Amino acid sequence: MLTSENISGLVYCFLCLVFVIPPQEVAAAGLTIQNLFGGLLGDERVDFIKYHIRRASVTLVVHAFLPLGYVLVIAWTNAEQYIYQFSSLALLIQIGFISSIVLPLAAVGCVLLWSQDGWAHHPLMLKLKNLYPSNEPSRSSVAVANAINVEMRRPDLFSSGHYSQKVHVTDNWIIKIGTYNLDIAHQTNCILSLCGSEEYTISEESPHGVQMLKIDVRPVDKSQSPFIIRLRSIDYTELRSKLHAPVVNARNIVVKQTVTELFVDAFTETVKANPPYTFNPEVAGYELEPCMGCMQETANVKIVKLCAPPGEGDCQECYCKPLWCIDCLAKWFSYRQDQNNTQTWLSGKAGCPMCRAKFCMADVCGIGLS
Ligand SMILES: [Zn+2]
Ligand SMILES: [Zn+2]
Ligand SMILES: [Zn+2]
Repeated sequence: MLTSENISGLVYCFLCLVFVIPPQEVAAAGLTIQNLFGGLLGDERVDFIKYHIRRASVTLVVHAFLPLGYVLVIAWTNAEQYIYQFSSLALLIQIGFISSIVLPLAAVGCVLLWSQDGWAHHPLMLKLKNLYPSNEPSRSSVAVANAINVEMRRPDLFSSGHYSQKVHVTDNWIIKIGTYNLDIAHQTNCILSLCGSEEYTISEESPHGVQMLKIDVRPVDKSQSPFIIRLRSIDYTELRSKLHAPVVNARNIVVKQTVTELFVDAFTETVKANPPYTFNPEVAGYELEPCMGCMQETANVKIVKLCAPPGEGDCQECYCKPLWCIDCLAKWFSYRQDQNNTQTWLSGKAGCPMCRAKFCMADVCGIGLS
C-alpha cells in the first residue's frame, strides 16, 4: 500500500537520481555540482587537475549526504515511529539510519585528509607520478599535474561527451572524467582497442540516430587500471587524428560513417566528375594557401558557375580565390541543407563561405584532384 511515507521516499529517490545522473535538460538548467559549487571549485581552465579533484571530492560529500536526506524525509513523515520509538524498529532499519549518519561523516573525513598539503594525499595525485612511461625520467605528481594542465589549455584539444561522461585527448594524455575520479593515461603508455558499439536510433543529438563506440584504454604498466571511454562514432575520426598510435579493431567493429561523412564522399565524386579548374600561380599572381576551414589541406576547389549560362538560374557567380579544401566545402554545404531530409542534399544549394554567392554541386571545380 502506498503510504505518505512511501510516496515521500519515492519522490526523494527520484529527485536524487535526477541529481546524481542528470539528464541534459537538468544539467543545462544548472542543477549540477559544477554549477552549484562553482565558486568552491576554481577555474577548470587554470588548474584542470585541482579543479577535478575538488569537484570529485565535493561530489563525494554531497552524494554521501543523500541517504541521510532520505532518512530525514522518512522520519519527518512518521516522526512518532522513527524518532520516538527508534529502539523498537527492525535491526536492519536501525543500521540503515546509523549508516546514513556515518557515511557523510566518513566522506567529510576522507576529503579533509586528502586536502592536506594542497591535495597531495588525494588518490589521483598519488596516481599521477606513475603515469609516464617507465623509460622516461620519473616526475613528481605536481610536475605531471602541471604538464596535464598546460596541455588542457591548448585550443586543439579533442573533447567528446558531456558532464560526467566527458573524454579529453590532448597531445600526450587521454583523460576520462568520472563522477568521483579521473582516469588518465599517457598516450605512449597505453594500448587502445575498440571493444564495443551501441546504436541508438532515437537521439537528441542527431536526427539520423547515433552510434556510441567503446574504446578500451589499457596501460602498458599492469599496475595501473584500464578504463573504457565512450564516444560518438562521428567523433572517431577526430579522435584518431589526435592519437599517436592507431586504435586496434580486433573485433572488426564497423564504425558507422555519419551522414555528413557519407555526403562528403558523394560530394567529392561529383566534383571529380565536374570540369577541373586550371590554376596557374603565375597567371593568378598568388600561391594556393591552406584551407580556411581546416588549415591542414591546401585549398583545392573553386566555385565556378557552370550549371547554367551567366545570368540564368538560381546560382550566382563567385569571384573568390580558391580558399577551401573539398572536405571542408562539402561539410559547409551539408550543414546548410535540410538536416531532416538527406535525400535533397545532392540537389541542394548553399552560399559561398566568403561572398555568399549561391552555388550547387555542379559549380564546384577541383584543382589538381585525382
Ligand atoms: Zn579544409
Ligand atoms: Zn565566393
Ligand atoms: Zn549552380
